[in-house]
Amino acid sequence: MATEGKVIRCRAAVAWEAGKPLVMEEVEVAPPKSGEVRLKIAATGICHTDSYTLSGSDPEGVFPVVLGHEGAGIVESIGEGVTKFQKGDTVIPLYIPQCGKSLFHFMGCSTFSEYTVVAEISLAKVDHMAPLDKVCLLGCGITTGYGAAVNTAKVEAGSTCAVFGLGALGLAAIMGCQAAGAARIIGVDLNPDKFKTAQEFGATEVVNPKDHSRPIQEVLVEMTDGGVDYSFECVGNVAIMRAALEACHKGWGTSVIIGVAAAGQEISTRPFQLVTGRTWKGTAFGGYKSVESVPKLVEEYMKKKLKVDEFVTHTLPFEKITEGFDLMHAGKCIRVVLQF
Ligand code: NAD
Ligand code: ZN
Repeated sequence: MATEGKVIRCRAAVAWEAGKPLVMEEVEVAPPKSGEVRLKIAATGICHTDSYTLSGSDPEGVFPVVLGHEGAGIVESIGEGVTKFQKGDTVIPLYIPQCGKSLFHFMGCSTFSEYTVVAEISLAKVDHMAPLDKVCLLGCGITTGYGAAVNTAKVEAGSTCAVFGLGALGLAAIMGCQAAGAARIIGVDLNPDKFKTAQEFGATEVVNPKDHSRPIQEVLVEMTDGGVDYSFECVGNVAIMRAALEACHKGWGTSVIIGVAAAGQEISTRPFQLVTGRTWKGTAFGGYKSVESVPKLVEEYMKKKLKVDEFVTHTLPFEKITEGFDLMHAGKCIRVVLQF
């Protein structure tokens, strides 16, 4: 049945209001306008940023909205003037903001829907053999954590790194540190259940702040004889952001903020920490240029140089999206992928 040029009625998980559960609704997805592409979503991950926006914490959050930004799918039709894509292409949406429907679009993606329309510039064409229920995670989490290490921090061979928070983002940062040739990678988490996987991903040591009466930065400075060369905050907690900075070696240590803190929170440290030569940075999408980099990351995954399958601990049908959010909140998963 040809759908091109017609409105498609399909299922989407609609966030009607902040703090309310998602509701599975039938929605109308308009044909792509000039410069837009309509795609059939095959799979999508659930990221903390979706939950953050749903909770109402995001000051820029608008409702009603279709959330989701870690998806992969197939081009269903293209709008006027679109030259880089054609029907049948395998694609990963990229979160560059864009509006166009009466339901608000989220991060230019809105992947919690069977069909979605995105701007041509918000799409990366990837290998058509790539398993979409895995590579969808390259649309956010894995790419961000990995890029934070290899692009933003530019971790050097032989260096010592500390990764705070061993969820998907932290594991991806560990993978980046390892790829860059770090000699020591210290994983830090309050939940001891996270340690085994972190070690499988390349952490050489693991530390639980609960096992120490002193601040964790002091413990790390002592363990590393002066501090780490690079640290990564993958929690979203301003106190940990400070600890991650202060765990760095004076003179050259660099700390990268990956976690998204709650609205209104502010970071602090003594200026002395910076004036003695530490650098504090943040990362968005791991410092990658999305359109050109995501297909290359897919290639690296296909050549088994990048772990992706290992991040997927649960695969659920799309209609079980609420169960997926519950698993994430309970800390019981690395990533949940929803299949359509
Ligand atoms: P996650 O919940 O899977 O992992 C967080 C980990 O931190 C958990 O293992 C938890 O036990 C641990 N933790 C909690 N409090 C801690 C503490 N005080 N000390 C040490 N560890 C602690 O989350 P995730 O999916 O890996 O995402 C991590 C963060 O990255 C989130 O804030 C998310 O919003 C953010 N994020 C940022 C970007 C970006 O572009 N910068 C992109 C995606 C996600
Ligand atoms: Zn995300």
